Amino acid sequence: MVESKAPVGYVEVLVECPFCGGYVPDDFECLKCGSEIMEETDYEQMMFVCSICREDVGDGADECEYCGAELE
Ligand SMILES: [Zn+2]
Ligand SMILES: [Zn+2]
Repeated sequence: MVESKAPVGYVEVLVECPFCGGYVPDDFECLKCGSEIMEETDYEQMMFVCSICREDVGDGADECEYCGAELE
């Protein structure tokens, strides 16, 4: 029996930076423009991406349709 080599990743939440409009991890500081992102910020857009290929997979996906990774 051949073992499946599907990589294991997770669903990563990205938020739209209100300053530069880029999608970045929900962090204190925007990776792209360096602006401080407040925890209370109401994000207008959120994106759920595969941590491996970073394609948009949607909230709660358990498998990435792009790279075939199992998402935990
Ligand atoms: Zn930014
Ligand atoms: Zn993927």
